[in-house]
This record gives sequence, structure tokens and C-alpha cells, in this order.
Amino acid sequence: MRIPADTGAELPRQLRERLSAILGARGVVEGDCSRYHESWGGSFTAPGGFVVRPGSTAEVAGTLAACAEARVAVVPQGGNTGLAGGAQPTRRGAVIVSLERMRALRAIDPVNDTITVEAGMTLAELQARAAEVDRLFPLSLASEGSCQIGGNLSTNAGGTQCLRYGNARAMALGLEVVLPDGQVWDGLRGLRKDATGYDLKQLFIGAEGTLGIITAAVLRLLPRPRDAATAFAAVPDPEAALRLLDHARRHLGESLTAFELMRHECLAWALVALGGTSPFAACHPWYVLIEATGQSAPGTLALPMEESMAAAIAEGIVSDATLAASETQRRRLWAMREGQAEAQKAAGPGIKHDVSVPVSAVPDFLARADAALAAAFPMIRPFAFGHLGDGNIHYNPLGPAGSTPAEVARLRPQVNRIVHDIVVDLGGSISAEHGLGQLRTHEIQRYKAPVERAMMAALKATFDPKGLMNPGKIVPD
Ligand code: ZN
Repeated sequence: MRIPADTGAELPRQLRERLSAILGARGVVEGDCSRYHESWGGSFTAPGGFVVRPGSTAEVAGTLAACAEARVAVVPQGGNTGLAGGAQPTRRGAVIVSLERMRALRAIDPVNDTITVEAGMTLAELQARAAEVDRLFPLSLASEGSCQIGGNLSTNAGGTQCLRYGNARAMALGLEVVLPDGQVWDGLRGLRKDATGYDLKQLFIGAEGTLGIITAAVLRLLPRPRDAATAFAAVPDPEAALRLLDHARRHLGESLTAFELMRHECLAWALVALGGTSPFAACHPWYVLIEATGQSAPGTLALPMEESMAAAIAEGIVSDATLAASETQRRRLWAMREGQAEAQKAAGPGIKHDVSVPVSAVPDFLARADAALAAAFPMIRPFAFGHLGDGNIHYNPLGPAGSTPAEVARLRPQVNRIVHDIVVDLGGSISAEHGLGQLRTHEIQRYKAPVERAMMAALKATFDPKGLMNPGKIVPD
């Protein structure tokens, strides 16, 4: 869909003039806004939206105050890589606030092990800034070159190292937030201990910009690993993968950093999309990518990694395994995992689920979901990968071979219902790391208890009584 360039016409002229006065020429996007209206991959397209790009916290505050007075909706936007449509307005007449110009490093304190950055800094730049002072910022996701830390915090992003370091929430010590009426909350405290009442920053993390806009954050830094050991193992089923996880934990202890599961189909399509060859001569039903990192001398972790594989092979739970002998080989193994977005594109239209269950329940979830879908839609093709170490599976079955995106889209509501009912029955979540956005906000009404929905609605009403912040996301309007 082509967006008309005159999106400004959606807004009252007075508000447009006021925003131009606050933000200046660089802060208002004239002409083609498709880059902001359409999400990465084109999954979500806004019906319009006037785009502003404030350059400072004061400009964000001015923008929100002006929009609140005019009663105009505001949709915050980071790197626009979200998979749930949280950064796209669902109606015309909204102001999209892109944080892309606010990407400054405000402070770095290697003694306190903290870094203070503005919300628009990309995750990759944040990792690089930490490395400059010999520290690690451990959040790591496929979109790290484009996604921004403000968006990562607003969706409580997870990624491939969550098993060891936790999700975005675990890395935040303090926030600066602009409230819906334009007030600025300076909560940029780099403290590990602060027992002075409600931990307000937690309300804004994972809130998808529905309570205010995160403009800066103080984040934890960690020691930068000097050693890494990476292995790729073939297993007969997810149950065996969990037993391998137990071996890996016993041999590698806290150095275990990633434990990623993928079906054979995911590896096969990644090889089609990216080229290359499988690490194994034979085909196996499931694969696991394991990585350990630590402060030991380079090469030290290879031994416990080999020992955990040998123990698992002896027990018959690993059919084959390979260890990366160089950084090039390590990158090659990771490419198969990180190339899953491309693999899915090559495989054809599918139906996505970003679910989590207790780690121990993952094999049960996969068996039940596969069986239920095979019974309801025999032509659907299995496709699943994810972060087995933390219980988060991207369960993305593909439509029947040769089906069009529209045909697959028609199956989506029923398939979502079948999969999500099983997830919730196992005590799981229907969005582990992608957020609710416009994709899951209505679905969650089925799965959250009335008391939980009431608390969420009460929070929303307290912070945003006019209902202007990212309307229709998280709390239905
Ligand atoms: Zn993921």
C-alpha cells in the first residue's frame, strides 16, 4: 500500500504549527513517510501518521504536552523492527514519535559497571560502546543492527543470551521517561540497591509506550568474555535436547550462555536461503546450538564442552556433534540460527507464535501442538526453533506447500487459537519476547484473568487518563 505524502493533513493545523515550532525543520518529516509507516518486513502498515523526530528529551516533552492538549494520539517508534506491530498506529490522525535522532552516549562508568544512553541508540552500537571499555552489554538479537535500546526496553526483549543474562528488564537500573502530559521523570539512577518504594521503572519496561516514552536508560555492564566454546549437536527429539541441557549445565555451570533448539526443516531452509552445507552428513530430526563463554584463558572451555557432548553421546541422547574450532566456524554455526528469518521467507508463508512455557514443558508443548495441528490441518508443515534454555519457542508452522499469503492468513486465527490454548494450559505465555502490539492485544483478553486485566487497565488510566499513548496496544481501547 502506498501512503500519501500529505499525512500532515490528518492533524489540526494548529498542532502541526506548534510541533514545527518545538521541533524545527529536522524534527518534522515532510514527504514520504513509508519508512515509518511500514514495519520491518512489511508485516504491519499504518493507515497514516504524522512523523516527528525529536532531538532531545525536552523536545519529546514538548511534543507530548502539545499532543495531550490537542487530544491527539502518540505512537512511539524505535528501530521499527518489532514483530507485533507495536510501533505502527492502527488509525489515522496519530503522531508517530521516532526516537532515531536521540542516540547519544550520556555517560559510561566502568567502575560502577553502568552505561547511560539515549533511547534511539541501536543495540549494536551499545554493545560496541561497552566493548570500548572492555565490558559486555549482553542483550543480543537478530535485529541488533537496527533495533534501538528504547524499543528493546519497551518490549522487554529477550534474545539468544537470556538463559544466562536475563532479558532487557534485567539489564535496566534506571530510566528517564516522558509522561503522557509532557512531564519528565528523571529516574536515571545507576543503583543495584534502592528500597524506596515502588520500582516505577519496571512499569515502563514492556509497556510498549502505552504509559509514556522512555528517552534514556542506565544499563548494567558485565565482564567481557575472553573464551568461548560453541557446539552443534543432533538429537532425536526435544526430550533428548533437555537431557543434553542438563549435561551442559553440569559440565559448563554458569558459563553456559546459549542453548538454542531447531527442527531439521529450519536448518534445511536456512541452508537454502543462505547457502552453505550442514555440519552433518546425515539428516537428524532436531539440532541444538550450545555456547559457553567465560573469563578463562582462550581454549579452556572447549574441554568441559567436549565432556558434556561425550557424556550425552554415551547416553545415546546425542546422535552427532561438532565443535567450532575457529571463530569462522563459530560464525558459520550461528549463521544457521540467526538466519531463521531468511529461512522462513524462503520456505513460504507461515503462522508465527512467540511462546514460552516452563523449560521442562517444552517437549510436551511441541508434541501437543504438532499433534493438534496435524489433526486440524493435515497439510500444515512444521517449523519451530527457539531458545530452549529459557523455554521460549518460535513455533511458526508453514502453510501447505504452494499456498499464497492470503490463504495462510485465513488459517491464522484458528491455528493461533489451537497453539495458544495449549501454551496457556501448560502455564505459558502467548508472547515471550515480541510484545503484544496490535497482533496479540485482543487475544490476550482470553488468557489473562479478569483481576489481571483490571490491574492493567487501572495502571493505564492512572498514567494516561486521556488514552492517547499508543492506543489499542496492551490495553484495548
Ligand atoms: Zn527469539
